[in-house]
Amino acid sequence: MSDPCPACGNQEGRVLLTSTDRLYAMTTDVFRVVECSSCKLIRLDPQPAPSELHRYYPASYWYSADGGSAGRLEQVYRRFVLRDHLRFTERALRESGEQGVVLDVGCGGGLFLQMLEERGAAGASRPIAGLDFSLDAARSAWKHAAVPTVCASLSHAPFAAESCAAITMFHVLEHLYDPTAYLEAAHRLLRPEGRLIVQVPNAACWQFLLLGARWNGVDVPRHLINFRARDLDALLNDCGFEVLRHKFFSLRDNPAGLATSLATGLDPMSRRLRHVPEKPWQRLAKDLVYAAVTVTCVPFTMLEAACRAGSTIMVEARKKS
Ligand SMILES: [Zn+2]
Repeated sequence: MSDPCPACGNQEGRVLLTSTDRLYAMTTDVFRVVECSSCKLIRLDPQPAPSELHRYYPASYWYSADGGSAGRLEQVYRRFVLRDHLRFTERALRESGEQGVVLDVGCGGGLFLQMLEERGAAGASRPIAGLDFSLDAARSAWKHAAVPTVCASLSHAPFAAESCAAITMFHVLEHLYDPTAYLEAAHRLLRPEGRLIVQVPNAACWQFLLLGARWNGVDVPRHLINFRARDLDALLNDCGFEVLRHKFFSLRDNPAGLATSLATGLDPMSRRLRHVPEKPWQRLAKDLVYAAVTVTCVPFTMLEAACRAGSTIMVEARKKS
């Protein structure tokens, strides 16, 4: 292998698949996904250099509502499907009882925090804050969702130690060269009973077994690590966290993810970012077919999740005492 395993340092491994950027076609290069022969962690190998990786991210990789009736409809859908993320976080806040900042790392357009505040989950004693790499995302979160957002890396975030009641990271860790640095930063920032909530694609899902490189959770070349639940648990444990619960289903991510894997050309975000030329009726027709495929995928993804092999893992963790 080109690089040592980031989890155990082992050099040996086997190639699981090779793939190009199936989703956004930002490059035609072919990449390799390998499994460590020792700890079995799955990763992109070699990892692209930071300057190169930057080119593989589309300009507006995050979601922000646009005007018009199609945009409003999308906003209604986005709000509807965020319920798993909201409920999971609300339960964690309720059970921890901790006060302090609720910080969403990789907040994108800020819809999650906006909804958390609307539902009164945060409350006056729990101010919300977003953090994102992208200046455009941070600007959008503030402008359109009224979410105070900083553009920073979590390791250098302008928050005091032990100031956070909860830190959420939805689909962040798999994009990082050094997820340990983020988890250690979260450990510093959380209050003693604060909660860390992490969501990543689950490389131990049935979809990966069935579809291989076609599974959208691999997302070559943007996902540097493909975690299984046990890999994530081990990493959290090493960073001083105790895992309290797992959830393997997300209404936002699992059915739509399978739809995208099966019909990549119909994925609305992919079409938008690739600037696929479409007349309004073509756009509507494709959106409707994609929606129908997504609904069709719900039973399978629920079954998969019930067997703890859903295509995403959401974890609640607290600091080890
Ligand atoms: Zn390893």
